[in-house]
Amino acid sequence: MTFKAIATPTKTKEILNKYGFSFKKSLGQNFIIDVNTLKNIIEVANVNEETTVIEIGPGIGALTEQLAIHSKKVIAFEIDQRLDPILDDTLGNYDNINIIYQDILKSNVVEVVNKYCPNTKEIKVVANLPYYVTTPILMKLLMEQLPISSFTVMIQKEVADRMAAKPNTKSYGSLSIAVQYYTEASVALNVPKTVFMPQPNVDSAVLHLKQREKPLVEVTDETFFFDLVQGSFAQRRKTLRNNLNRHFSQVYDKEEIELRLKHAGIDGTRRGESLSIQEFADLSNAFL
Ligand code: SAM
Repeated sequence: MTFKAIATPTKTKEILNKYGFSFKKSLGQNFIIDVNTLKNIIEVANVNEETTVIEIGPGIGALTEQLAIHSKKVIAFEIDQRLDPILDDTLGNYDNINIIYQDILKSNVVEVVNKYCPNTKEIKVVANLPYYVTTPILMKLLMEQLPISSFTVMIQKEVADRMAAKPNTKSYGSLSIAVQYYTEASVALNVPKTVFMPQPNVDSAVLHLKQREKPLVEVTDETFFFDLVQGSFAQRRKTLRNNLNRHFSQVYDKEEIELRLKHAGIDGTRRGESLSIQEFADLSNAFL
């Protein structure tokens, strides 16, 4: 692997000074200043010259450059227009990068991909995400009608742990289920604060999500399933029965809920965190 280096403290400072750029904390701007971290991200993402990559938030282009070197095409979404002249300078030599200056949450990603990369068979998402909007970005991209095969994203460690968590752990909850319904999730790397400029207040991790061909479980009504999951974790210390009674108090009486629990073969004295995703699906389907 070739590694040129925007991602060193000296080079990053030099670029920022040249353009008088000041970080916006509100945009989650923590740039990577460590070549090894980039190397690890590229390895986990497993990109090659066939891969189309979507990146969110190129910053000054540290990761973007490595993605351009190792993949076929990079489509990068950046909200901060001030980075335009900088990225022109740092990435100007690469003809396989398109930078779209839009808020990823507001952009029509399908339209952009079809425009810059029609007939793409496989897309990988690789990014050092802005931490303030990690979950909405991942959820949006998981719902898009795009052939995304995997996500390799640097996010807050605590959120990565929750997304990849298994039942009967402190981190397991509705977020784990939402993510694992669509993907196989694993925490690939823990990353120290020192590899960023400026250093964030929280620890980071690289999360790898492999898209499933179809959702992990079959549910009759997805909206109801996710609502039931939310309700089951509303008060973690309470039993499943108590949480469900409270959550559905306007819709089902206690006897009805008891009947549905019985029908699904689930003991109402258990806690939400002990149920597998399959058990949540069984319970959800027992209501419909
Ligand atoms: N990729 C660079 C790196 O690793 O050094 C920068 C990563 S920095 C954590 C996050 C980047 O996302 C910033 O460049 C920020 O301006 C951008 N960003 C923040 N919110 C965004 C949004 N809603 N849509 C697109 N980009 C966004």
